Parts: sequence; C-alpha cells; structure tokens
Amino acid sequence: MALAVIRNDDKTPGWLEAFREADPQIAVYDYARPHPKEAVTMAAVWKHPKGSLSQYPNLRAVHGLGAGVDFILEDPDLRPEWPVMRVTDPYLAADMAEYILAQVLAYLRQLPDYQIDKSRTVWRPRPYRRIADVTVGLMGLGTLGRAAARLLGAAGFSCCGWTRSTTPKADFPVFTGPQGLKPFLASADVLVCLLPLTPQTHGILNRDTFQALPQGAYLMNVARGPLLVEEHLLEALAGGKLSGACLDVFAQEPLPAGHPFWDHPAVQITPHIASVSEPGSVVPQILANYRALLKGEKLHNLVSRGLGY
Ligand code: NAP
Repeated sequence: MALAVIRNDDKTPGWLEAFREADPQIAVYDYARPHPKEAVTMAAVWKHPKGSLSQYPNLRAVHGLGAGVDFILEDPDLRPEWPVMRVTDPYLAADMAEYILAQVLAYLRQLPDYQIDKSRTVWRPRPYRRIADVTVGLMGLGTLGRAAARLLGAAGFSCCGWTRSTTPKADFPVFTGPQGLKPFLASADVLVCLLPLTPQTHGILNRDTFQALPQGAYLMNVARGPLLVEEHLLEALAGGKLSGACLDVFAQEPLPAGHPFWDHPAVQITPHIASVSEPGSVVPQILANYRALLKGEKLHNLVSRGLGY
C-alpha cells in the first residue's frame, strides 16, 4: 500500500519530504521516478500529466493537493468509483483573504499607477476612494469566499455574496442561483470571483456579467482562468464599463509572451500565487484520508462528482 505524488511542476520533493516527516512508515512515491505502480492505492495530484492515473492498476482514490479539483474531474482516466477529495486548509483561506484585501486596497489607492509614475519619474497626485464607499461582491462563499468576507468586513468593507444554493449565515446580503446573479452584480463595485471551475461556471465572467455591474467596477479573478472570457474583459476595459482588473489565474499558465494582458495598464497580474497549498499544513489531512481509505472509514473533504466541486 502506498501513495504517489503526481505533479506538473518541480515541487514534488518538498511534498515527499512533508509526507516523510508526517509519517515515515507510509510509502510515498514520486510519479517521475521508477516505483512499483501496483503498490499505489491513492494518488495525490496537482495538474497531473495526461494518462498518469491509468498507470496505477490498484488505484482506489484521488486526492487533490489544492482547493480546486477541476483538472481532476476533467481527466477521462478518472474512474467513476474513485472518490475524489480536495484540500481545505485554514492557511489557504487566510492567504487568499489577505491577497484580496491587499489588491482591493491597492486598487482604491491606485498604487499600481504610482509604480508606473515612479518608473517614468512622474509626480502626479490622484483622487482616491475610501473603504466606506465600496461594496465588494464575492462570487462564491465557500471556504475561501467566507474567509475573504470576514477579513474585508473587519477592514470596514461592505460585502455581498453569491452562491449556488446555500444561504450561509452572514451579516451582508447573500444572493443565490441564476435569478440572484443580476441583483448581486448590481451592488458589486469590486467583483471578486472565488467560484470553482465547473460546466456551469465556465466563462461566467463575460460581457453580460460585466454589463450588470456598476459603471467603472473592478474585477478580480482569483479562482480559475477559464471562468473569464478574456476578450470580453478587454472590451469592457476599452469601453470603460470596467475600470481595471486583477488576475491571478489564466486560461493558459504561464501567461504567454505577447498576451495583451502583459502590457495593459489597467490589468494587474500575479502568477497564480494568491494562495498556495503548504505541504506541512496540508499533508496531515491527506494522510488522514489515506488511512481512512485503507480502513474503509469515512473520507473527508469529498468532492461531489455531480456538482463538480
Ligand atoms: P468551495 O468551498 O467549494 O466553495 C465554492 C463556492 O462557489 C460555494 O459558495 C458554491 O455555492 C459556489 N458555487 C459553485 N458553483 C456555483 C454556481 N454555479 N453558481 C453560484 N455559486 C456557485 O471552494 P473554495 O475552497 O472556496 O475555493 C474556490 C476556488 O478557488 C477553487 O475551486 C479554486 O479553483 C480556487 N483557488 C484559487 C487559488 C489561487 O491561488 N488563485 C487557491 C485556492 C483555490 P454553494 O455554497 O451553494 O455550494
């Protein structure tokens, strides 16, 4: 019985080390190195290469190494009987909330514009907006959306939220379902997308959505690139419907050289770092699920295959 770590980047050694530190008795293999494939019962994955899961004849479950699982559910090799689990981690939620707060404040005080001015030796004071005058709309009030709402609320922002079906206890307006989308958008001066990527949410940040926002609204996509229709964002920026955007995730990562976002003065870019799973913090919950799988006990943080998150 063993675990395999399957990633598309160079971070596997750090994960293997965290597994070893947490429980040296459990065999954990690196997909990229030779190992006994028939021993592996659970795969722990992040954007795993195509065809990798099918190499394990005794695989019984797949665990994501992050909060989003779209790349797992899209895998044609994923067997219907395999449970899929994701990570929910307090650090992941806190890091995301802090990123969003930092970016909203930078937007209100126009800090990116002053960086540009400095690089050109330009002294140019600008008017600014206050926290008290801005409502942040959170698309998705899951683990990350709720953490962001708490921090933004504590900083003095008004918030509103949008969910698929739940109405979590909140001291701000929460809208649900397709009928709640337009009224939600109408009050969002800053729209923060924290939705999972599913067939229902793919391309949801589009022309119609932008049209329903207040004039000059600001967009932040920190969830997944394919939620955004990139051409519609460029159009909304050119027409003034949106005043700017902050993007941490992209349809193609790394963002290709020559992409119009690189040079756009109103588009802030970060390389998918809003909130990064920390192996030391996340590995214990993966191991707990691995042990539960072997004993036939209840698994935690299970993903609904039907809902896609
Ligand atoms: P989560 O706990 O699963 O919450 C998802 C939220 O989205 C829920 O409130 C859900 O509504 C809502 N939702 C789902 N489908 C919807 C629909 N069709 N219409 C309206 N609302 C819908 O997810 P999470 O842990 O907060 O993470 C959110 C996403 O953030 C992840 O899927 C991942 O892609 C992304 N992420 C990005 C980074 C980064 O560094 N940029 C890091 C971690 C995660 P209900 O409450 O009704 O179910």
